[in-house]
Order: sequence, then C-alpha cells, then structure tokens
Amino acid sequence: MGQKVTRTDFEWVYTEEPHASRRKIILEKYPQIKKLFGYDPNFKWIVTAMVLTQFMMLFVMKDRSWPIILLVAYCFGGVINHSLMLAIHEISHNLAFGHCRPMHNKYFGFFANLPVGIPFSISFKKYHLEHHRYQGDEIRDTDIPTYLEAKLFCTTFGKFIWVILQPFFYAFRPLITYPKPLTNLELINGVIQLSFDALVVYLYYKRTNNVTFRILLLCNAPIVPSVLRLLF
Ligand SMILES: [Zn+2]
Repeated sequence: MGQKVTRTDFEWVYTEEPHASRRKIILEKYPQIKKLFGYDPNFKWIVTAMVLTQFMMLFVMKDRSWPIILLVAYCFGGVINHSLMLAIHEISHNLAFGHCRPMHNKYFGFFANLPVGIPFSISFKKYHLEHHRYQGDEIRDTDIPTYLEAKLFCTTFGKFIWVILQPFFYAFRPLITYPKPLTNLELINGVIQLSFDALVVYLYYKRTNNVTFRILLLCNAPIVPSVLRLLF
C-alpha cells in the first residue's frame, strides 16, 4: 500500500558535522545568546509537580470506569508522561541542577522516571550523548534507523507502521546495533523503578477488585496513551 521509495541506500555526506560549525557562526554573529546558556532553576520544580500529579492520579482514578480511565490516560496521563520523557532528555544534559552537580541530575532522573514505569533515564543518557557527539554516524548515533528498518518499512503504509512502533525501535535498536555493558547506575535505576512498580501493583491489588488492566494503566499509563498519541 502506498508508494515505495526508490532510494536504496542512506544519503552519505563527508562534510563536517554541521552543529558545531553552526554554533560557532551563530555565536560570532549573536554573542548575546551566551547569556541564555545554563539551566532553568524552575525546571526541577515543574518536573516534581508533574511526578506528584501522576502519583495523585493513581488514587483519583482507582475506582473509575473503563471509558473514563482510557480517556484520562490518553488526555492527561499520556501528556504528562510524554513531558516527563522530554524532561529526562533535559536531565541527561544536566539541565536540572547544572553541569557542576552531575549526580544530582542523575538522582533526579530516577525520580522523573517513576511514572513512566520502565527504567530508562540512565540508559537513555548513555546513548543520547553519543547521538549528539557523533550525529549521523551510522553506528554510534543510535537514533538513526537501521538498513533493515529502511528495507522493511519503505512504503507509505510501512512508514506509518514504523512511526507507531518508533518507541520500541528507539528502545531496542541500540541493544542490537551498539550494545554497551550494563552500568551500576543502570542497575540502581532498574531496582528503584521495579520496586516502585511493584509497590503500585501491591497498593492497587489491595484497594481495588478490578486490578487486571488498571495496574497496567496506573493512570500513569506509560505505553497505551503514548502509542495512541503517536497515532492520533
Ligand atoms: Zn539531547
């Protein structure tokens, strides 16, 4: 279904990675931009408020009907969780507490990660910094789709499917194309996250009879509304 792309290879360029040179040119022309460098001191409070809101929603939504849960998960939980994922991107650049306090940023990343349900704040940083440093490198920039993806999803409909599955490709691609050893901080991130998930399941199991899918949603609803939001 849909037109097939005619290209059979990636577009290869051998010029300098453009961001560094553009940064230099922009700063030469507009040196005042440097005053805007740094981190926003309000950022950590906004992220904290979003995380606490998601915690609160667990209790607000615990006895609601299915249609209401789905609606709120899509319109509310999914929006906040998307914001938190972007917050984790900012935190990976040390923008919660600044570059002088790298561990504060990492600990805060564990916290911002909680409503998302899947431990990723440390793993994301591990790959994301190389994405910036080696942008366009087919191995070290794991944001770039693989040949296999390009070959499998080369029609309009195929690309549509690829967009829907993008979170999964994004998460699992590096494990195949550029595996790196697990770090202690990733393990800590995993233990904290899975303990939190277990606590939520336990609390829900105690408080409601209809646990089945509600547990999944947690009203934090990480996967379902995120995929739905990609679709619509
Ligand atoms: Zn970035």
